[in-house]
Amino acid sequence: MIVTLVELENGSVSEISLETLAFARSLAAEGGGIAIRAVVVGDVDAPDAVAAELGAHGVSEVLQATGDAFSAYGGAAWAAALQAARESTKSVVVTAAGSPRGMEVLAHLAARLDVPFAANVVSFSGLAPFVVTRQVVGGAAQEEMKLDRRPAVLTVAGHSWTAAAVGGDAATWTTFSPEVAEADLVARVVATGTKDSDDSDSLKSARVVVGAGRGAGGPEGFAAVGELAELLHGSLGVSRVVTSLGWRPHHEQVGQTGSRISPELYVPCGISGAIQHWAGCSSSKVIVAINTDAEAPMMTKATYAVVGDMHEVVPAIVEEIRGR
Ligand code: FAD
Repeated sequence: MIVTLVELENGSVSEISLETLAFARSLAAEGGGIAIRAVVVGDVDAPDAVAAELGAHGVSEVLQATGDAFSAYGGAAWAAALQAARESTKSVVVTAAGSPRGMEVLAHLAARLDVPFAANVVSFSGLAPFVVTRQVVGGAAQEEMKLDRRPAVLTVAGHSWTAAAVGGDAATWTTFSPEVAEADLVARVVATGTKDSDDSDSLKSARVVVGAGRGAGGPEGFAAVGELAELLHGSLGVSRVVTSLGWRPHHEQVGQTGSRISPELYVPCGISGAIQHWAGCSSSKVIVAINTDAEAPMMTKATYAVVGDMHEVVPAIVEEIRGR
């Protein structure tokens, strides 16, 4: 049995939780059709809709943890709920999304169970032994990890799997009220707020991103890349040097301390491809890098590398597209 912690956003299952279920389904299939249980914690506005959505994504049963302890989010309290669900189902694998909450809750759970914690898993290569590949150094590198204690506790890196409904009846719904110790309630969310808008949202979900770095040369150097982004119906993304120098706003930054993108096409221009930048763009499907330095890390990792001055190459591409 596999237990997956599922997070809800505005009453629906979050996209990254659905991606995690795609991983869990693959694991379940490899194990000969192991059942997948989902755990949701706290109030659920529309259980029928959530049960239907989770059923379509391969979940057979939803376990909803209820009780005063879950009126506000707390990592340790949620871990207590997940631990109770895992014990009642005798699950051999516990998964969650590699989201801030998924990471916090599963770290608590692994510590409580005294088992290793594999964060940001992207794939597995066998069940016996159970070997997973996971992202490290902010996604810039990968390592293999053998999980030989049970349950295996792991989070799944965002965008490493594609959320896909596979059909299936609505999951059955069971509520349970796990005991939560006082000590598990010491850290809880007391207030939440939302920003009016998050300007980086369109960058994170863009199918095309045109990037620019120090090679742009200054604030005036972004006109052509902006035009190219517009022509390709994409977004503009920049390196940290660019935001640090105040050439462009921070919400456009790609990387470890910016947005993580996974477009179909990324066109980094005048960006060296430092490890912290690569951490945010390595999931791009196709990378067409433009740089004067053929040896820049971005050029050696790109799908296609164009050696040239971005101030000549980008306007030429724009002109070519406009001429069609
Ligand atoms: P440079 O490294 O200076 O590279 C400029 C590139 O432009 C070079 O490859 C050069 O050959 C090329 N070039 C120059 N002129 C032209 C031209 N006319 N045409 C074409 N090419 C040209 N960086 C991020 O981007 N995102 C992050 O989230 C991030 N987080 C960080 C977090 C930490 C804790 C630290 C320490 C660093 C972080 N950085 C981040 C910074 C990162 O290490 C690099 O310094 C940064 O990415 C470099 O930006 P760049 O590629 O634009 O500049």
